[in-house]
Amino acid sequence: MLELRTPIRETVKALGQEVVIFGWVNSRRDMGKLAFLDMRDSSGLMQVVLVPAELSERALGLMSDIRLEYCLKITGIVNKRGEKQINPNLETGAVELLAKDIEIFNLSKTPPFELGDTKNIHEELRMKYRYLDLRTDRMRRNIILRDKVITFFRDFLHREGFIEFETPILTKGTPEGSREYLVPSRLHDGKFYVLPQSPQQFKQLLMVGGMEKYFQIARCFRDEDQRGDRQPEFTQLDLEMSFVTQEDVLALNEKMMIELVKTVAPEKKILQVPFPRISYRDSMEKYGNDKPDLRQDKTDPNELAFAWIVDFPMFETDGEGGIQAAHHPFCMPHPEDVGLLDTEPLKVRAASYDLVMNGYELSSGSIRIHHRDLQNKIFQLLGIPDELIQARFGHMLEAFEYGAPPHGGMAPGIDRIVMLLANEPNIREVIAFPKTGDARDPLMGAPSEIEEKRLREAHIDIRKK
Ligand code: ASP
Repeated sequence: MLELRTPIRETVKALGQEVVIFGWVNSRRDMGKLAFLDMRDSSGLMQVVLVPAELSERALGLMSDIRLEYCLKITGIVNKRGEKQINPNLETGAVELLAKDIEIFNLSKTPPFELGDTKNIHEELRMKYRYLDLRTDRMRRNIILRDKVITFFRDFLHREGFIEFETPILTKGTPEGSREYLVPSRLHDGKFYVLPQSPQQFKQLLMVGGMEKYFQIARCFRDEDQRGDRQPEFTQLDLEMSFVTQEDVLALNEKMMIELVKTVAPEKKILQVPFPRISYRDSMEKYGNDKPDLRQDKTDPNELAFAWIVDFPMFETDGEGGIQAAHHPFCMPHPEDVGLLDTEPLKVRAASYDLVMNGYELSSGSIRIHHRDLQNKIFQLLGIPDELIQARFGHMLEAFEYGAPPHGGMAPGIDRIVMLLANEPNIREVIAFPKTGDARDPLMGAPSEIEEKRLREAHIDIRKK
C-alpha cells in the first residue's frame, strides 16, 4: 500500500476526519472560484470540493490542470453535505470531501469516448480501449457479477463434494462438432497440439481414475466461422459425476441454478419450479426449435423461464449421405433404442439433455458410454475407419477396459448465464477482454504475423495466396 488510504465507499464512516483517497477524476464542474470533482475508485464515487483558501500551495498550483481520468491522491476532510445537496442516488451522497492536498499520480489524455453510458459507443472502439471501458459502471457491475457467479458455483460444488481440476490446454482433438485451433509443436517437427473444444475426454478419464465428482471453470476453444454471439474462447462450468443416472445430473443442476439465482440475482423470478421437461421431439413440434422461450411476459427483464429439453437424437444427417453425432459421440444411446442402432440409427435417442432459459441454450450434457464395445460401435456407425478410431480414440477405448464406472455430466456456459443475469445483449459485455465477431482482439492486435525465425522454429511455411 502506498499509505493509509480510505476506500471511497468507506468515507461515509469517517465524518469530520481527515482521510486520503486514491482514484480517478470521473467528472469536473467549475463554479466561480470553486471546483467540484467526482472521484472514482473500485469501491465507489464521491464528490470532492476544491476551495482555493483550503488548499495547500501545491494543490492550489495544480487545481486548474486537473482533467478527466487523471489518477490522483487527495487528502481532505469528510464533511456532511447540506440538506439540499444530498444525492440519494450515490452511496456517498450524504458526504463530500473538502480537499486539502492533491498529488497527481498520472495525467490522462482525453479518453476516446465518454466513460458513462456506453450503449451507443462503437464497440470496436470500446474493445481497443478496453482498459478504459472497464472503468465504466456497466463493465464493473458485469465483471463483479461474473465473479459472484463463479464464486457461487465453486462454493456450491465444493459443498456437494466435487473436486476442482485443471486439464490440459495443449492436447489432442476431441470431436464436438467444431473446427479446432492448432498449435504447431517445435520439438516434434510436423506435429501439432490442438486446443480443447471442451475437456470432455479428460473429465471422462478422471471418472475412470476414480475421482467421482469433477468440476472445472474450463476455457473452451472453437475455431468457428463467427456467428453473432460466439467467441473463439469461452468459459464453461464443466462437471462430471460417476455412478449417476440422468435424473441425478438434472437434479443437481436444477438445484444449483435455483440457488444461483437466489444468491446472485435475487431480483429475478423463476417462472416454474421444478423446471418443465420437454422432449426434443415435442419441442420441435410445438415451438419449431430446441430452445423455446417459455416466458409469460417477454418484456419483464426479471422473468426467468428455465426448461429441460431431453431425449435428443443420438445422430443427425451430415448433409452428405452419412450421419454425425448430434451432440458428441460419447453420449449413451437411450436403453430402449439400442436395438435400432444398426437398422434405424436416426431414430435412436441419446441420454442427453439441454438446459434452456428464455430462448437460450445454457448448458448441455449426457450420460456417457462406459463400455469399449458400444463406444467402438458408435465410432464405426459414424463412418470413422478403424485405423482412425485407434489413432484418435484408442486411449478412450483402452481406458474403458479398466473398470470404467457409469458416469455423466454437463457443462453450463458461464458467459451466457452472466449475460442473461446482467440483462446484457451479448456475451462480450461480460468478458473482460473479448474478441470481435470475426475473432480479432483489437486491443492486443491478435491474431498477428510472426517473424520468419519463429516460423522456422515451428516448422511452418506460409503459403502465399
Ligand atoms: N462437452 C460438452 C460440451 O461442451 C458438454 C458435456 O457433454 O458435458 O458441449
